[in-house]
Amino acid sequence: MNGVSMTDDIGAKLASVRARIDQAARAVGRRADDVTLVAVSKTQPDERLEAALRAGQRVFGENYVQEAQAHWAHRRAVFGDLELHLVGPLQTNKVEAAAALFDVIQSVDRERLAAGLAKAEAKLDRRLSYFVQVNTGEEPQKSGVMPADAVAFVDRVREVHGLDVVGLMAIPPFDEPVAPHFALLAKLAARAGVDGLSMGMSADFEQAVRLGATHVRVGTDIFGERPPRS
Ligand SMILES: *Cc1c(COP(=O)(O)O)cnc(C)c1O
Repeated sequence: MNGVSMTDDIGAKLASVRARIDQAARAVGRRADDVTLVAVSKTQPDERLEAALRAGQRVFGENYVQEAQAHWAHRRAVFGDLELHLVGPLQTNKVEAAAALFDVIQSVDRERLAAGLAKAEAKLDRRLSYFVQVNTGEEPQKSGVMPADAVAFVDRVREVHGLDVVGLMAIPPFDEPVAPHFALLAKLAARAGVDGLSMGMSADFEQAVRLGATHVRVGTDIFGERPPRS
């Protein structure tokens, strides 16, 4: 595949994903404007990021702090309106680097992480927005707080650590129907008093929008298959 056709393709794919979000939102009487498309660019080559930027995309999601720095730190100066989300797990030793780069961290799931982020905000004089990740499938290997602990955890992150929690995020088990997980996340968000719902990826973002997602995280349907992480 040559670079030109591939990057043209990304513009078309972005347009198609946006149209599908619009249609899913209208189907349930929502506005597409109320759904933020987070283009997940982890492990994607630079030319694909450039193509997405040329197509007007400004909100991007990344999984790894170092790779995100390489992708975006130098582009901040060029694109003042970039909005960068960390959607992957955050290790405590990378908290300060993450707080310096990202606008939104979607994977807050431990008290120590919240404490570290509060400290980094103060040191850097920077305020971020946060989602608390919920392990809706209660999978042992997966990040996120247990559903039963989610509301109390959101309260503590806000009140004890002073972070601006704007919503909840979930990655449902890959082998189960997603709708019950999306519905559970929405119910927990209402109880916790947060409006944001980050749910839905390439395979299921329309369903997520119909169930109230405010943020969908789409990688493959925009950029194509991910090259292996180098
Ligand atoms: C990689 C990733 C995505 C994007 O997944 P696709 O299936 O490629 O759309 C979304 N959310 C998280 C947390 C991810 O790690």
